[in-house]
Amino acid sequence: MSKSTRRDFIRSSLVAFGAFIFSSSLLKPLSAIAKEAEPKDSGTTKASALPDGEKKLDESDAVAKALGFHHNVKDTDFTKYPQRNKPEAKNQYCKNCAYYTDKNGAWGKCQMLSNGVVAAEGWCGSWSKKA
Ligand code: SF4
Repeated sequence: MSKSTRRDFIRSSLVAFGAFIFSSSLLKPLSAIAKEAEPKDSGTTKASALPDGEKKLDESDAVAKALGFHHNVKDTDFTKYPQRNKPEAKNQYCKNCAYYTDKNGAWGKCQMLSNGVVAAEGWCGSWSKKA
């Protein structure tokens, strides 16, 4: 092996090694960022877990449908329930409804809907301000 070839080999090896170290240092923070970007509320966290022995109310339940209930207020049919879309109604949620009894912060029992627990962030057309 000639001197210049050996020098080229060492130089290209150092460049490759440096590129490897650089990319490794970049990948680690990127994976950490990706992990942070994952939704924390995926239904498996302790805070959003259903209360022991309870089942989630099915939105297709006859009474739930009749009341326009959804676990996420964003799913409300605002053409049918325009009152919920008004600025003064922006804080209407099951969690502050007179018919709601909190079970674990994320779920609770509704006096109007007895076939399961409702999400604290839900809403229906029978919402009534808690006294
Ligand atoms: S009556 Fe109240 S607690 Fe029950 S579903 Fe409607 S908004 Fe939620």
